[in-house]
Amino acid sequence: MKLSPHFHLSEFTQSQTATRLMLDNNPEPATIAALRLLCEKVLEPVRENYGRPVLISSGYRSPEVNRALRGSRSSQHVKGEAADFEIAGISNLRLCQWMERRLNYDQLILEFYETDIPDSGWVHVSYREPYRNQELTARRVVRNGRRTTEYRNGIIG
Ligand SMILES: [Zn+2]
Repeated sequence: MKLSPHFHLSEFTQSQTATRLMLDNNPEPATIAALRLLCEKVLEPVRENYGRPVLISSGYRSPEVNRALRGSRSSQHVKGEAADFEIAGISNLRLCQWMERRLNYDQLILEFYETDIPDSGWVHVSYREPYRNQELTARRVVRNGRRTTEYRNGIIG
């Protein structure tokens, strides 16, 4: 099933976790509608600007898959509103900076990008209406001897 000119539903539902644990990862029609909106408003404009395939590493997550991944229960991936992606050869920092200037989205997160390692990390983006146009940068840090994720406001390289 096509969601938009360059995106197919299967790109958003394929999940190694779902395959490995034999979990259902098929979205409801309302969730498919949310994925279509994400494609139309965010992913197609990105595809158009760079003229290269947008590689979705994680799109839709059924509640079962999200639980297996220990994802937040309020994750926008469960609602079909979010996707994690990269474009081969484009730094994730540059991608986020372009999106910040040119697009509207609910949340844009530069995830686990390391300065000077252009293909490190990935981009998380979500869309819904009304949108917040919120930008965050996620980094792994060690606090009190424990590894945790720290979120800071803005896109920080
Ligand atoms: Zn994500």
